[in-house]
Parts: sequence; structure tokens; C-alpha cells
Amino acid sequence: MEKKTFVTKEQVEEIVKKYPTPFHLYDEKGIRENAEALKKAFSWNKGYKEYFAVKATPNPFLIKILHEYGCGCDCSSYTELMLSDAADIRGNEIMFSSNDTPAEDYKLAAELGATINLDDITHIPFLEEILGSLPKRLSLRYNPGGVFKISNGIMDNPGDAKYGLTKPQLLEAYGILRDKGVEEFGLHAFLASNTVTNEYYPLLARQLFELAVEVKEKTGVSINFVNLSGGVGIPYRPDQEKNDIAVIGEGVRKAFEEVLVPAGLGDVAIYTELGRFMMGPYGCLVTKAIHEKHTHKEYIGVDACAVNLMRPAMYGAYHHITVLGKENAPADHVYDVTGSLCENNDKFAIDRELPEIDMGDYLVIHDTGAHGFSMGYNYNGKLKSAELLLRTDGSVQLIRRAETPADYFATFDCFEDYKKLSGK
Ligand SMILES: *Cc1c(COP(=O)(O)O)cnc(C)c1O
Repeated sequence: MEKKTFVTKEQVEEIVKKYPTPFHLYDEKGIRENAEALKKAFSWNKGYKEYFAVKATPNPFLIKILHEYGCGCDCSSYTELMLSDAADIRGNEIMFSSNDTPAEDYKLAAELGATINLDDITHIPFLEEILGSLPKRLSLRYNPGGVFKISNGIMDNPGDAKYGLTKPQLLEAYGILRDKGVEEFGLHAFLASNTVTNEYYPLLARQLFELAVEVKEKTGVSINFVNLSGGVGIPYRPDQEKNDIAVIGEGVRKAFEEVLVPAGLGDVAIYTELGRFMMGPYGCLVTKAIHEKHTHKEYIGVDACAVNLMRPAMYGAYHHITVLGKENAPADHVYDVTGSLCENNDKFAIDRELPEIDMGDYLVIHDTGAHGFSMGYNYNGKLKSAELLLRTDGSVQLIRRAETPADYFATFDCFEDYKKLSGK
């Protein structure tokens, strides 16, 4: 698939007059069209709901846009719950899928009326102790172990993952929940990440639907909702084919008709907790070339660094790069594109074929809309960038300002010369 930017050089030249690089830019039009397509793909299921994985892009402006399409929030921590609350998303519109969960987090989740998804059987007494009694509606996260296979090979390795209950634990746990007065039951699993295939959700759904039937046979508990969680991916590389959400929705429907309906479970609601698929392609990191260096390799130094986008440094992840205004120029140079951290893995691209880059050129680093800004950190005293929204009418809205040194130093208010640091 050809990788195109949703912003032009001319637009960026306008934007930087007000908001200097680097910044993350989000595409409202793309976000809306995709949310609409997802909603349509699962419209066959009466109870369908997407709970946007807040950790992917924790920004209330964006969360509110998704809410217009019926999306709730999938939260995993105290502050993510606060964000959801601030965006007026509460009650059954929050899924709380956490692990190694602190007591305060469970408390807030319960206060907000979130549906709690338990990561372990030991969390049943833990939650009961915190809340006094269990909520009427609870979900359990399943981990089958082993490897998750699709037609063309192994996709991921649940046996190595820290999440979820084993099958015997799961069966036991539903019995315990039932005996303790729980009335509504969910089943959740996240078995493979960033899957760029239409097969993942339908295969996962079939496994979970069969398990729901088994749960009913063995414990008498009727599952009310199956949460397919995240994992539907995006094509980061130009040679990858985009997932077709309509085909995915249809694949899940087929498994539903074949497994759940005959077992008398045709009322089960399907939930998803997509993060990457909802936002990934609709965000980019815009940065400027500020240095070139010719040593043992050819380097282009940009004004963004791994603090703004950690995925390449952390996972060696590929992010496509477009040099604005040079979309049609031949990619006849080979560069390492680097940030300024004192870490040699601070490279957005290694040995990447790109057009000749001049100082001052704007580079668009694609697909940073999910797990991009949100993974940011402050190493080397680097400050986090702004987040901007490119509206459908072409205007640009600041949806998070850039950090200032005063933000960075705010937690030194215990230091005697704090005034000097904060500038106050
Ligand atoms: C991270 C996460 C998601 C979202 O994953 P994506 O790959 O971004 O779709 C959903 N649910 C849970 C529990 C997660 O941890």
C-alpha cells in the first residue's frame, strides 16, 4: 500500500508559524471515517461496543470524537480512569482491563461504575476486600497458553504473556463469581498484537465462543459479553495490506452464527478494545531536519527524538518517513534519521532510502497516532511535544500544549531553589 501523508508541505509551513516542530498531528477526518466503518462492521451485533484503549492515545479531545460513534473507554490505570471521567464517559461505557492492579485503581473503577475485567483468580478476593462485595457485572481475562496460530504461521505467544487466567482457573472463577452473586459475566482475551490480517479476530472469536459454550456446559454460567480486546493492526510498512474491518466483522459474525447461536447464546454482546486500529494511521510526528552528518554513515538529525516516539528505539519498529515536498523525488540517498538523545538507539530509521534531505526540510513520521506520544518519557531532560488536531475543515486545534521546563521541574517543589527551576 502506498503510504501517503494526510498533511501537505504547505499546511505544515502554515502550522509551524504558530506551533514549532516537533509535534504530533492527528487527522480528524480519518479518525471519523474509520470509527464509522468499525461501527458498521459490527452493526449486526445488538450489544456491540468498542471501548477505545485509552493508553494508545490518552487525549480527551480525541476520546470525545470517538464517543460520538458510540465508543467507550478501555482504561488500565487510575489516571486513565480520570481521563475517561473527564470526557464524561462513565458506567458501562468504561471497561477496566488492568493487570497487577493497585487497590486505589479498582476503587475508582468501581466508583465510576466501570465494568471490571479481572486478570487473575486471586483478584476476586482482592476486589471483594476492597469493595466490601463484588460488582454485579464482572469479566475474566483468558490466557490459553501455547502459541496463537493462523493459517500462515505463528502469530504470537500467549504462553509467555503475563496476562490472564488458565482455562481450569477460568472455569473455577466463573463458579466462584456465580456463588458470590455476580449476575453478568464477560469473557476477554488479547492473544496477538498488531495483526495485519483479517483472520485474527474471527479466529479469536471462534475460540472464545467455543469457550463460552464450554463455560455454560460445565458451570451453568451464561456469558453475557465476549471482549475481543485489541490487536487488530495497521500496515506500518508500504508492502503490507491494510486490514478490511468489514471482512473482519463478517468473519466474527460467521463464527457467532455457527457457534453461539446454536448453543442458545445468540444474545451475547461483542466488545472490542481497539487502540492502534482506531488511531494509529491518523496521527503523525512532524519534525524538521536540523543537522546532517557525514561520518561512517550518512546521518540526518531531526528535532524530534525517541522521547516523542519510542517504538523504533524500543522494538526496532518500522515507521514510514515522507520528506514533505519531495514525495515524488527519487529515493536515491541512504540515511540514518536520528534524534538527539545520548542513546545510539535513538534512530527513527536506519539505512532508509529517502530523497536527498536538505536542512530545514520537514519530515513526516507516519502512523504515530497510537502508542506514539503516549509512550513518551523525559530522558535527557527532553520535553514532550504538543498534540495538534487537523480538523475536517482544514483548521488546526491545539489539543495538548508542549511541555515547558516548568512542567519538567514541577515535582522539585521540595527543592530550596525551586523558584529558579520553575521560573516562578
Ligand atoms: C493495549 C491494549 C489494548 C489495545 O491494543 P491495540 O494493539 O492498540 O489494539 C486493548 N486491551 C488491552 C487490555 C490492552 O492492554
